[in-house]
Amino acid sequence: MSPTLICPCGRRIENASEFKLLYLKKELNEIDILCPNDNCYLREVGYIKFEIVDGKPKFKEASFYPPFVTWNASQLGRENAIEELKRVLKDLVNRIDWNMIKAPVESKT
Ligand SMILES: [Zn+2]
Repeated sequence: MSPTLICPCGRRIENASEFKLLYLKKELNEIDILCPNDNCYLREVGYIKFEIVDGKPKFKEASFYPPFVTWNASQLGRENAIEELKRVLKDLVNRIDWNMIKAPVESKT
């Protein structure tokens, strides 16, 4: 059984699908990972970065921000937390709707 991630706001995240992905910062080639709690004081708990290669988005890197990582390490134990955070990031990257990124890039021309 994998441990459950907890946001510093108190929200437990059982599944990667609960996180919200924000496709706003297209010019920065970045997708924000948001806490599912609308009243969360952190809101942004991580990011996924990508680059455009031959007009197509290509995954570059993904990470959770230090406050989220530190909090989970203190709650779940460092090793458990790091492992689960990695697993969730992978899951989130697999969930990205790359068409949402590609479409606006194409429509500019
Ligand atoms: Zn939160």
